[in-house]
Amino acid sequence: MAVLGTRDVAAVVREKLAAGTLPCNAPTKMWVGNGSGRSCDACGQPITPTDIEYEPDFADPSVQVRFHQKCLDVWHQWRARGV
Ligand SMILES: [Zn+2]
Repeated sequence: MAVLGTRDVAAVVREKLAAGTLPCNAPTKMWVGNGSGRSCDACGQPITPTDIEYEPDFADPSVQVRFHQKCLDVWHQWRARGV
């Protein structure tokens, strides 16, 4: 399986922000824990138990996303630019 580089993740994150698939508002809370094998909402790869999973909480509880640490960083970068 191909592993996306940071640059590709940035492109995917930008597209998802533009499409509204990823939220562009700031989270109200952030849950951090070990991965549970579910897919990262940025790169689409599973977040394995050896990875740290970041799960931002939003004012709207229907918005549920989770990220790898590096993908969270990319999301924050592009979210802050208001794409
Ligand atoms: Zn990821």
